[in-house]
Amino acid sequence: CEPDGVEEQRLKKLLDDERELAQSLDKIKSADAYTADGERIAVLVNIGKPSDLKNTDGVKFDGGGLFRSEFLYQSSDKKPTEAEQIAAYKEVIEKVYPNPVTVRTLDVGGDKELKYLGMKKEENPFLGNRGIRLCLANPDIFSEQIRSLLIAGEGKSLKIMLPMVTSVSEIDKTRTVIDGVKKSLDESGTAYCTDIRLGIMIETPAAVMISDKLAEEVEFFSIGTNDLTQYTLAIDRQNSKLDRFYNPHHEAVLRMIQRTIDGAHKHGRWVGICGELGADTALTERFVQMGIDELSVAPSMVLPVRSKICEME
Ligand code: PEP
Ligand code: MG
Repeated sequence: CEPDGVEEQRLKKLLDDERELAQSLDKIKSADAYTADGERIAVLVNIGKPSDLKNTDGVKFDGGGLFRSEFLYQSSDKKPTEAEQIAAYKEVIEKVYPNPVTVRTLDVGGDKELKYLGMKKEENPFLGNRGIRLCLANPDIFSEQIRSLLIAGEGKSLKIMLPMVTSVSEIDKTRTVIDGVKKSLDESGTAYCTDIRLGIMIETPAAVMISDKLAEEVEFFSIGTNDLTQYTLAIDRQNSKLDRFYNPHHEAVLRMIQRTIDGAHKHGRWVGICGELGADTALTERFVQMGIDELSVAPSMVLPVRSKICEME
């Protein structure tokens, strides 16, 4: 049926508003994210696999804030070869260059199983052998990933990020692995990346509570709010029956984030958010007020998040 005059006006206004929004987003497509008082907040992208970078649609971003390396390990029944790993890391590093890419080391366990690792069935896999624990328990796989990363980053810079950290000793052990890999590359005369920064994900209440200590050991933090919410609220993030309790806006989660930022800044460390909450524009202003340095979000959310930052006082 034909719209009447009032309906016609309403539709026209909707169209005008949408056009105006598209134009204002277009203007900031290639701008940096500054708040009105001149504070620069980095907006980066989360990458699940190299082809995700096709979805950035000409929108400028400040690097890869979280490259989840699991896709390489989960896409086949066999462990990826060193050559396959080097090719995948190189592809992303080169696409994002000169901006940096933060590669998260293998984060399986929990709900992600790798048959070829012979992982044992666990009663509580999310509280079990996952993330950095599992990597340190499988030194061959871990060293091979570090080696591939170092070779792939040759001549460029590289940020390596460890998942599910709960203690300083996990960082110390990882540094020992990295040093061992460097030594063997030196001995074989293989060129590798010399500009490496080591960071960790803050995803557990333990890491939050000792964030000031952890900040002395690494160069950056990125807050994984998906896991941090599940561990703080004791709610399985996969259990849809508990969705009404899974509340990342819970004051306890927000205080965890604030404490992490304070712990990082106490030692002059950079801190970002790479969990889903980083893209929640209802909280962007609050994160900036808390002192966040970086938000890493899905490619489709870069523009809305940057727009929110630019609107802020
Ligand atoms: C997180 O836990 O917030 C996170 C980014 O890691 P993942 O979702 O891959 O567990
Ligand atoms: Mg996580």
